[in-house]
Amino acid sequence: MIVLRILLRQWPLALAWSFMALVAVSFTRFDNGVAFLWGATAVLIAGLLRVPRRYWWAPLSVIGCLSFLITGFFGLGWQAAPWFVIVNLGEGTVAALIMTRSAGQRELMADLSWFGRFVFAMVVAPVCVAPVVGAVLWLIGHAPLPGVATFISGHALGNLTILPIAHLLASRSARRDSAQLLQRRKLDAAILLPLLVVVDIAVFAQTDWPLLFLPVMFVLLATFRLERLGAAFALVGLALIGGSLTGAGQGPVALSGASLPARMLFFQLFLVATVLTVLPVAADLHHRRKLLRSFRRSEAEFRLLAEYCTDVIMRIAPDGRIRYVSPSIHQLLGHTPEALVGQASRDLIHPADLARVIEEHRQTLASAGEPRRYEYRSMTREGEIRWFATHGRALLDDDGRPYELLAMIRDVTLAKQSEESWQEAALVDALTRLPNRRALEQMAADLCQGEHCLAILDIDRFKAVNDTHGHEVGDEVLVGFARAAKGFVRGHDRMCRLGGEEFVVLFEHTSLQQAYDICDRLRLLMSASPITTEAGRIRVTISGGVAVIGETGLRSALKSADAALYRAKRAGRDQLQIAA
Ligand code: GH3
Ligand code: MG
Ligand code: MG
Repeated sequence: MIVLRILLRQWPLALAWSFMALVAVSFTRFDNGVAFLWGATAVLIAGLLRVPRRYWWAPLSVIGCLSFLITGFFGLGWQAAPWFVIVNLGEGTVAALIMTRSAGQRELMADLSWFGRFVFAMVVAPVCVAPVVGAVLWLIGHAPLPGVATFISGHALGNLTILPIAHLLASRSARRDSAQLLQRRKLDAAILLPLLVVVDIAVFAQTDWPLLFLPVMFVLLATFRLERLGAAFALVGLALIGGSLTGAGQGPVALSGASLPARMLFFQLFLVATVLTVLPVAADLHHRRKLLRSFRRSEAEFRLLAEYCTDVIMRIAPDGRIRYVSPSIHQLLGHTPEALVGQASRDLIHPADLARVIEEHRQTLASAGEPRRYEYRSMTREGEIRWFATHGRALLDDDGRPYELLAMIRDVTLAKQSEESWQEAALVDALTRLPNRRALEQMAADLCQGEHCLAILDIDRFKAVNDTHGHEVGDEVLVGFARAAKGFVRGHDRMCRLGGEEFVVLFEHTSLQQAYDICDRLRLLMSASPITTEAGRIRVTISGGVAVIGETGLRSALKSADAALYRAKRAGRDQLQIAA
């Protein structure tokens, strides 16, 4: 049942094949009874190419029966009929096998390599079965050699001319593609296709002028406007109209005065030359259109990405000019893309980072597509400075030379700020915002030659403040003292918090006596003016030890100041002592 259904489904193929075979047999039977242009095999090849190989038995068996009947009734007779079944099926199978040798080669006129394989298959297939033809001709009393030659040229030419149109009509995707093309080029098709027929008739129905060049022009015109469809249609029209009129003694070829078989041979040559000119053009055009379509698609995808990306995408020429910048630049820097395209990208970079960024650009262009990352500052249109990170990569042309720098630019200001604030946090006391012990160590290390002093100041009986008012109020007292003390010392004296309720003042280029005097006035100020807190005004006193920072450095100065502080505490607090 299934077998029968599959066989019945071959009816369009059977119809087309019979039509082509009958046309060939009845219109062109002159030389040895072998057709000058045999298009039926092309129909069979197209029928094979549209289905997977495991279904080839169906078209082959249907065409086998038809071949037997048509050769028997209309062709060389019943004796030759079984042999021509072998010839026709063998030729079609060989050609289809070559065309489908690698997967993905089934698309019609995919590109120039398709054309190479196509010509090879269409010529080799008839050559393969030619010995059988010669044997049959000899068997039935014809001269084998001229018959074989006519067979090969007629079949190769028929395959080359008819397969494109047969394949185009048989393949669903090619049909859909042609329908879309026709939709877009309606007017071209409406003018060109009838015009082709008119030109073919006008040229081949007369015998006065050698106008063979005219149809070639129109075939090419149809190919350029209607691509594979135009080429396939034009070649079939030329073969059928030109072939039948030339066979009837008409057309420019008759001007030669040669015998009819010689004229037909000449027309075959003319047709082969036209086919071999037009089909590669059609294949290449089709290939380019497909490339263009996929290029447009990827271009659209890139635009979509670029346009909706929060990062900025920038394409920069090797000389630094901006070729493209995505719209997000407006959010980041306040410039519109239109205003920036054509401008030098260096104008966007902060002058302090410019030399480094130019060097990075140079390195990126020189490092053959390797991505590089670099950070720099830029100014917004309003003059605000922001941090950016660029991932840059050079795009290379076919010769491996960089023609463009593709940059993905991200605003890293926030990350940069928090990085800075982390660094700062390590040197600044969180409660009082004064430099901490580590900062003090750095400052002391940076001191240049000269007389420097320091004082350790410690709040008296601070534990009692915590115990009475709570830790929060204790904090307020610490902050209040820090503010008062920092406000009191001179601008270049450095107030630090050593830890707990202990503070250090670093006096640069200051004598011990001067340092002592400043600290003592601060002590008097503290004892006279209470600190305002949530729990009311709290009065605290301070004790302190003052020491010179000598050759032995910060550590020993702190030690001697601490010893002096201890003495001040022991002596009753609210006083200063100078280190021994
Ligand atoms: P002295 O006059 O001998 O200096 O007495 P004191 O109570 O000030 O000395 P002590 O070193 O015994 O106590 C210091 C107290 O400071 C102990 C600790 O709980 C408190 N303290 C340390 N750091 C902080 C802080 O950051 N906030 C608050 N509220 N208290 C702190
Ligand atoms: Mg204390
Ligand atoms: Mg203490």
